[in-house]
Amino acid sequence: MTDHSLQSGAAAVVVHGVGDLRVETRGLPQARGDEAIIEVAYGGICGSDLHYWLHGAAGESVLREPMVLGHEVVGTVVHGAADGSGPGAGTRVAVHPASPADGPARYPLERPNLSPGCTYLGSAARYPHTQGAFSRFAVLPSRMLRTLPSGLSLRTAALAEPASVAWHAVARAGDVRGKRILVVGSGPIGCLIVAVLKRAGAAEIIAVDVHEGPLATARALGATSTLFASDAEAIAQVEADVVLESSGSHRGLASAMQGAMRGARIVMVGLLPSGDQPVPISLAISRELELVGSFRFNDEMTDVLNALADGSLHVDPVVTHEYSIGQALEAFETARDSGRSGKVLLNFADTAAGSRPAG
Ligand SMILES: [Zn+2]
Repeated sequence: MTDHSLQSGAAAVVVHGVGDLRVETRGLPQARGDEAIIEVAYGGICGSDLHYWLHGAAGESVLREPMVLGHEVVGTVVHGAADGSGPGAGTRVAVHPASPADGPARYPLERPNLSPGCTYLGSAARYPHTQGAFSRFAVLPSRMLRTLPSGLSLRTAALAEPASVAWHAVARAGDVRGKRILVVGSGPIGCLIVAVLKRAGAAEIIAVDVHEGPLATARALGATSTLFASDAEAIAQVEADVVLESSGSHRGLASAMQGAMRGARIVMVGLLPSGDQPVPISLAISRELELVGSFRFNDEMTDVLNALADGSLHVDPVVTHEYSIGQALEAFETARDSGRSGKVLLNFADTAAGSRPAG
């Protein structure tokens, strides 16, 4: 790695519009004093990345200019920040993608994930968009970087961002020890929630999905039983103490409400589409259900990295595929097929063509 190779730019995964995803060489922005240059090792493809590619929007964030995707990245510092902040060259790091914004808005200050002006890597919520980090090299503020504990591989650490989302959601659920928990939606976030619940001492974890593949992954991560989403009767009989909704669909939220015990808490972490959603909301009154939102995370990534390093949080089965950056289009095609894939990783160091089986 030389400065010369940086000047020629870096291969990046860029969405130009609906269905228009390209791997192209982009010049690196000049690093400001508080910014480090990272050689990215792995990037996990997230639902929001897929939404920008398939629909040109993720929720209310609409694509208005080409944008480098990616916020689930890990890598190695090539140049530390010039101001001396953050980790130095050679340090392996995970990336916390959020930049909370100061402003006059009212929100609990200890919950910066609720800051209305907060930006996120690879997000079109603001204009100009916040460029992401699916790039062989990325220039990032040093405050985003979290040093990996020794012994933790970059590949396992690639799940730190979605695992932090899961960790935050389980924290929003309250004490889960000894309890019966229903997890609706067994995509990567749902499966990571299962893993975090197991670590937290949940007695029973019942995972739900429309496909068998994700349910098999949920079982590998600690689900004690699994149900198909179509089996409304079985879901209603669960009577869970706590439900985590990670499907992001109104049908999933309806299942969550049907499967909850009276007085239960339902944590909604799957992002519903914006606008009205048809759900049997009256159940929340007669059953005194507590509907609780869960959005991104705050400082949980440090706990997650430690739990991944000490082996108490086991997440590897979530990764089902790994592709080199040159195969990014195939990687996205695989990731959109939720019956066939869980978390799909891009390997930015591997310039060889073709995918490798995970594991
Ligand atoms: Zn993500």
